[in-house]
Amino acid sequence: GGDFNQKIDYVFKVVLIGDSAVGKSQLLSRFSRNEFSLDSKATIGVEFQTRTLEIDHKTVKAQIWDTAGQERHKSSRESLYEMQKGQGILRFKGLGLGDWDSPFCPISFSYTVGNEVHLRYRAVTSAYYRGAVGAMLVYDITKRQSFDHVARWLEELRGHADKNIVIMLVGNKTDLGSLRAVPTEDAKEFAEKENLFFIETSALEATNVETAFVNVLTEIYRVVS
Ligand code: GDP
Ligand code: MG
Repeated sequence: GGDFNQKIDYVFKVVLIGDSAVGKSQLLSRFSRNEFSLDSKATIGVEFQTRTLEIDHKTVKAQIWDTAGQERHKSSRESLYEMQKGQGILRFKGLGLGDWDSPFCPISFSYTVGNEVHLRYRAVTSAYYRGAVGAMLVYDITKRQSFDHVARWLEELRGHADKNIVIMLVGNKTDLGSLRAVPTEDAKEFAEKENLFFIETSALEATNVETAFVNVLTEIYRVVS
């Protein structure tokens, strides 16, 4: 139960990866706090949330990491300024952007096109994947490109993570069924070929989100116990 001195039997680190805007942060928010926001801000840097649950009468603390990682972002000066205020890691100098010399700053460079600011993130890979025993590789069922990129994400994951890592392919946004661009069968076939678990979810409607995380954590438990 919610005992403050609850004994934790296991801590499992799970990473979220996949293209920008597929719903990684909202899946995490749904799982850890049962919250969802339609106008979520792009993730800057790395953050994690935890949730403690029972698996096979053991207390498992899931530590789920979320990042903008290798994504590239495009935003207006206004929204960038909002992110800056929220996170306190970017600084403006005059009209331009620059001088983010903090070692924690995830931006490697930026350039502007008109009023848009393009950001390129510094690789956070090794620290991000270190110690991860599970991964949720997320794509958006309405964005074919986000599914086409799954193979690249997998390559990066397999290049950096432990070879026994449990991987779940997650097709998110099933509530937008009429806009579907990735047939379930295509994803299922890919998952079988690559030895991944597979599920479709909606963070918005809370469909299969709990199941997706619990299945990954249960599978990790099987591997380590
Ligand atoms: P991230 O960049 O992968 O972390 O994506 P976010 O979690 O920030 O979500 C990007 C956008 O998609 C936001 O506007 C979310 O509200 C929206 N979104 C996330 N999950 C869902 C979902 O299941 N259904 C719908 N319709 N929108 C979603
Ligand atoms: Mg995010």
